[in-house]
Amino acid sequence: MNLNADALSRNPAVASTDKNAITKTNNHKPLFPLARNENPTQHNRSSDPIPASTTHTKNNLLEQSHDIPEDEFSPANDDTLSESDTDSDESNEDNDPPLCHTPNAPHQQFNVREVRDSFITRKDSLIIFTTQTGEPCDLGARILAEQGRLPRIENAVPGRAKVINDKNRYIIVLIIQERTSELITRQTIIDAISALLSVINEIGLTSVSICKSDIDRVSWTKTRDIIDETFNNHGVKIAICTNEISIPPISDRLRILREYHDSAAGGHKGITKTYWRIKYRYYWPNMKADIQAYVQGCRDCQRKKLVRVKTRQPMILTDTPAVAFEKISMDIMGPLPETRSGNVYILTVQDLLSKYSLAIPLRQITAIDVANAFVNEIICVYGAPKALLTDQGTNFLSALMRAIARKFRIKQCKTTAYHPQSNGSVERSHHVLWEYLKQYVDKEREWDELLKLATFSYNTSVHESTKFSPHELVFGKTARIPTSDPVLPNDLSKTYTDYLTSLFDRLRDSQDAAKENLCQAKQRSKRYYDKKCNPQTFQRGNQVYLLAEPIKGKFADQYRGPYEILEVLKNNNVKLAVSKNRTRIVHCDKLKKLRYIGERGAHLLDDDAPHPGPSGRS
Ligand SMILES: [Zn+2]
Repeated sequence: MNLNADALSRNPAVASTDKNAITKTNNHKPLFPLARNENPTQHNRSSDPIPASTTHTKNNLLEQSHDIPEDEFSPANDDTLSESDTDSDESNEDNDPPLCHTPNAPHQQFNVREVRDSFITRKDSLIIFTTQTGEPCDLGARILAEQGRLPRIENAVPGRAKVINDKNRYIIVLIIQERTSELITRQTIIDAISALLSVINEIGLTSVSICKSDIDRVSWTKTRDIIDETFNNHGVKIAICTNEISIPPISDRLRILREYHDSAAGGHKGITKTYWRIKYRYYWPNMKADIQAYVQGCRDCQRKKLVRVKTRQPMILTDTPAVAFEKISMDIMGPLPETRSGNVYILTVQDLLSKYSLAIPLRQITAIDVANAFVNEIICVYGAPKALLTDQGTNFLSALMRAIARKFRIKQCKTTAYHPQSNGSVERSHHVLWEYLKQYVDKEREWDELLKLATFSYNTSVHESTKFSPHELVFGKTARIPTSDPVLPNDLSKTYTDYLTSLFDRLRDSQDAAKENLCQAKQRSKRYYDKKCNPQTFQRGNQVYLLAEPIKGKFADQYRGPYEILEVLKNNNVKLAVSKNRTRIVHCDKLKKLRYIGERGAHLLDDDAPHPGPSGRS
């Protein structure tokens, strides 16, 4: 079927029936010349014994005030609302006044509804009114004309309908005038609406939309009455668009976005909430994408909203040391409640292979205090490590510590601030140690007196990642603790040589096994960690936000910046310009890229708008 053809001229029978209709406008029956309306079972309402006026008033209220959701009207939903359903279910629920109502006109149909939608956003077939040369006569036609979507009409006959294929639906053009100067008669509108009925039946449409609009000088109420009469008892759903949802010009959209997102009422809500609020009043093509670009580009939101898992970088595995006390990590815990001895801090030290841990109480953490503890408690007991991992704390990077490291040829490695993962799974076990020590510290006023016992207990317990106790890995034997088996007589070694040989054997075997276990544990945690990664790639010159250090009891921005990346370094670190003459090395995990509204929402920005983001509002 060629739907671009004049529907009525292809169907002379319908056309002639319509001619009859013209002559019998006071009797509605001839307006329904097609088969479905000739079925007497569908005329129950007209033969209803209840006085017409009562029924009509009730039904009118019912159908006028129900604002049904869009999808109920969508062409995809072929479910037509049956009369009986409507009557029984909904008639008592409505108290809203009818939106448009002519007291004398009978309104018996149930599928004609007003919707807030803008005509242009409807997805079902559209009904418009034009002259025979295609000049717009109603709002719907003018809206299509504005969009450049008004179909070209030539040689059409007033009172007839043209059906134009428009992608997945139709635009039904009702011809109601020869020329715009001509007065439109009620009769022509009746003819046109009758033609519409024929078209809807012929194509089998289930849903159409029309604009609530005067047609030239004919008021909407009159047109509405004709529609109601013509489609009385008909199954098609007719959405009357009130166009309360407006389509703002492009120049207005940024203002709307600001109003709905940035203002006090907007409250910097997320994309979905902002979208639903705007959707109630406005529509424009790609509105959702624009809202997304705008909200993601909002600088206030970028500074405040914490992005957790998604920006993490894949974990980089650090070398697993092969020998105990080859690589150690060092950190400071505190300040803690001051003990009688005046201790306030704990210098925690952990061997990366064995997890052997030390906790040294300190009164102060000046460079000298830390350096003294390091030399006396570590180097003098366990020997100098080859590598020392510390965070960027000034105590560890002090000139004194650097001098000591040079003297003992210790390689000092910085873990990037607030990013324990750069040591692989190792650094996290340092936190396990902290958590463990905290139990004692919190409970005991004189926590420093318990530190040795606490670390002994820690070191003699099997460590999850190595499957050995740290003590065993360092000393080659399990420590005797009160619950251990008693030492058997033949365990007492014969000679020092025998003792050393067996000690070395046991040490080598257990440390080899520990290394193997540690590697596996690291791989496991890397796999687990990476699974949740969605790494961002950073480049020199990128503008980024830096995760702020949390300030206790303060509602501060989660991020600082934006700052520029000066250099991309190894192991997912970058050098940032945090001020004019200050740089800082941070891990990529602490960063998120500054998003510009211009990336995807450039069309929203006019020349007066602040660039590049929306937060430049004053
Ligand atoms: Zn915001």
